[in-house]
Amino acid sequence: MQDVIIIGAGVIGTLIARNLSAYQTDVLVLEKNLDVGDGASGANSAIVHSGYDPIPGTKKAEYNVRGNAMFDQLSRELGVPFRRIGSLTLAFDEEGEQKLSELLNRAKQNGVPAEILFGYDAIKEKEPHVPKEVKAALYCPTAGIVDPFLLTARAMENALDNGAKLHLGEAVTAIKPIDGGYEVQTPKATYQTRYVINAAGAYADEIAKMMGLDKWKIIPKKGQYFVLDHFGPFVKTVLFPLPSQKGKGMLVTPTTAGNYLVGPSSSIEESKDDVSTDSLTLAQVKEGGAKLVDQLPLKEAIRVYAGLRSSIEGGDFVIEESKPGFLNLIGIDSPGLASSPYIGKLVAEMAESRLHLTKKKNWNPFVSRIKLANLSLEERAKLIKENPDYGEIICTCEKISLGEIRQELRTSLPCLTIKAMKKRTRCGFGKCQGGFCQARILEEIARANGKKLEEINYGFPDSFQLKEASK
Ligand SMILES: Cc1cc2nc3c(=O)[nH]c(=O)nc-3n(C[C@H](O)[C@H](O)[C@H](O)COP(=O)(O)OP(=O)(O)OC[C@H]3O[C@@H](n4cnc5c(N)ncnc54)[C@H](O)[C@@H]3O)c2cc1C
Repeated sequence: MQDVIIIGAGVIGTLIARNLSAYQTDVLVLEKNLDVGDGASGANSAIVHSGYDPIPGTKKAEYNVRGNAMFDQLSRELGVPFRRIGSLTLAFDEEGEQKLSELLNRAKQNGVPAEILFGYDAIKEKEPHVPKEVKAALYCPTAGIVDPFLLTARAMENALDNGAKLHLGEAVTAIKPIDGGYEVQTPKATYQTRYVINAAGAYADEIAKMMGLDKWKIIPKKGQYFVLDHFGPFVKTVLFPLPSQKGKGMLVTPTTAGNYLVGPSSSIEESKDDVSTDSLTLAQVKEGGAKLVDQLPLKEAIRVYAGLRSSIEGGDFVIEESKPGFLNLIGIDSPGLASSPYIGKLVAEMAESRLHLTKKKNWNPFVSRIKLANLSLEERAKLIKENPDYGEIICTCEKISLGEIRQELRTSLPCLTIKAMKKRTRCGFGKCQGGFCQARILEEIARANGKKLEEINYGFPDSFQLKEASK
């Protein structure tokens, strides 16, 4: 019998797995997609919120602030890009200034360092690109940005390196109680386990229903974005409008890769999978972004995308052992990414006390990689001499070498799809969006995994790149 099964390999499931891999226990992660982080964890604003916004006393407020504080160490251990760039929430009139004082009060109650800056000149010092009409701004220095794709992937890889297991492309279809635990079924196998952790994001309510728990209903809320190219230094901080009932509103932020994001919108959807975008909403996103930044260069847009928030009635995170040995994480919408390091630790500790686990002596918290861009010219020359793969640039937009691509194909975390390689290395993220490098990447993935070219998916199951050609 397995000790723990985690359902879902988003940032929550993978960080729980990493924390649990520090104990003497068998951990198996079941993920229905072909890669980790293809749900909300791969389609968000990538902001490590400071925590000024959640209602004081809620789990969101507490876990956001605790999670935020853990990012420096976690990102160092996993080699994940993270920068504490601070955020500014802008007000343009007296009513807005009043709302900022309420937010400052909330920030204080949540234990978040914050101050209000008054007047264009004071705000411009932190962020030169704000519009002249700005009257005041709430400045929160602890807000940051992170690479959410790498955070999820490296957390999983680290868990695998420490003994956890991952089965990709295996959706949980049924769960039933048995003596001493649960039986978990997928189309490929039936597993017996002492402990089940439901981290299935938008589908967490349906997993709970498999155990007769029908008190939650996830309301998918779509957020649409523009991605702007990395055209040089521009916005330095995370820029928010005043929050509304719909959420934190449409923001403008740099990414850790030097791009800029504008969005997200917020609309309630029927589907838990539909991440399409539409021109009407994107026009509203443009308008929203233009209010925060003087001359927002939307001509630099290279892509649009959408993610689905897993919201529930009541709004706070639900993290509870609803039945002995059956733990549910429901409604982990924003600030789920910012809270994820703390949630990972908390849930592992809940499993520890139920299963009486003991810590491993030889747990290794580190993941390391060669990243060409981080090396000096001398270091690059030496590396290329040792391994010429690092001298062949495959993705010319993002300057990713063959060596970096092959490096990802040798780790404990499977890299089975083009999107997985894109998320690991950034190849295909640039201006050409993979137009020049995708065919080569397809070949590399197929060769490393012992597959035919036509068996490789872009991302989701049945998104074969060469399906038509293979018929
Ligand atoms: C538009 C948007 C913007 C956001 N911005 C931010 C932000 O800036 N900062 C922040 O802190 N938070 C943000 N969030 C929230 C954050 O992204 C989420 O809280 C976080 O990613 C949730 O992670 P998760 O692992 O719970 O869910 P997911 O990443 O969705 O992972 C759940 C996983 O479960 C798998 N799964 C589902 N059903 C099954 C099954 N039956 N069997 C096996 N596997 C299954 C899915 O395939 C998926 O991989 C945003 C969210 C969205 C959508």
